[in-house]
Amino acid sequence: AKSKVDTQIVLPNDTDWSDNSRKNTLERDLSYALQKGQFLLYYQPKLDIRENNLNVEALLRWNHQNFGLVPPNEFIPLAEQNQLIKIIGKWVIQQVCKDMKAFKKLNPNIKVAINISPVQLNDANFVEDIKKIIAKEKVDPGKIELEITESDLLHIPSAQKQFELLSNVGFRLVLDDFGTSYSSLNYLKELSVQKIKIDKSFIMNMDYHQKDQQIVQMIIKLAKNLDLEVTAEGVEKWKHIELLTKMDCNEIQGYYLSKPLPVLEIMKKLEENKIS
Ligand code: C2E
Ligand code: CA
Ligand code: CA
Ligand code: CA
Repeated sequence: AKSKVDTQIVLPNDTDWSDNSRKNTLERDLSYALQKGQFLLYYQPKLDIRENNLNVEALLRWNHQNFGLVPPNEFIPLAEQNQLIKIIGKWVIQQVCKDMKAFKKLNPNIKVAINISPVQLNDANFVEDIKKIIAKEKVDPGKIELEITESDLLHIPSAQKQFELLSNVGFRLVLDDFGTSYSSLNYLKELSVQKIKIDKSFIMNMDYHQKDQQIVQMIIKLAKNLDLEVTAEGVEKWKHIELLTKMDCNEIQGYYLSKPLPVLEIMKKLEENKIS
């Protein structure tokens, strides 16, 4: 035991020993998490403020036997490294299609957003695979939004082609975290998307940062001019909603409305919205 302590002391101080062992454990356990049924989907509401329509985004969680709920930022990078994200991502799409049937009963106009990893999109079989799933589950692709994080596009050489194919199937394509990459405008020019999602870093402080407010205003105007819909994420205060409504933003998402919720709770929200 003593030698272990010694080893720890000589480690460079940027190496967090305990975190490293958590990472190793997660890496090891990830390969059978799917078989063990440890993945689940949370759903966060997104409110279309002009249509007063409640949509949702599916957000993946891993219920690990020792650590409890592990957030996606911690395990998705690991799943991308070893390609497991391809089968996990397929599970996500299948599960969303199943959940959508229940959601549709509460809101026939609901759109469900799914996050897609660059590793999935780079897979030559991706478009065929997702087509098969929606055909089997009899889901309308026009009700599915595929969210691709803007900064990931750098790692997807075939993005333009893939977007075109997905668009032809009828899926709605969304640029996520818009404004955070070095070539946001180029992507807007090259890719056929229906919607952009303004990154939360611009929204969260817009009530007191004039610069952020100006940037958000500009992005919304640009989106309108290009005939694109625009969502603001990271809406945490009433003041944000007020500002975004004035700016004619289409859709808002964030803790002010609701955190991501388990399926049963999101269904309660959809039910409430139906009555009101
Ligand atoms: P994202 O797609 O940008 O999702 C938004 C993240 O911001 C979510 O974190 C959400 O819980 C959080 N969020 C929502 N509203 C607020 C707010 O008002 N304030 C703040 N500070 N945060 C807010 P989450 O669920 O931990 O997901 C993190 C990221 O993991 C997602 O970022 C997405 O890139 C990725 N991810 C989640 N599910 C999947 C999935 O099924 N597949 C893939 N490939 N990636 C996923
Ligand atoms: Ca997203
Ligand atoms: Ca985002
Ligand atoms: Ca993000």
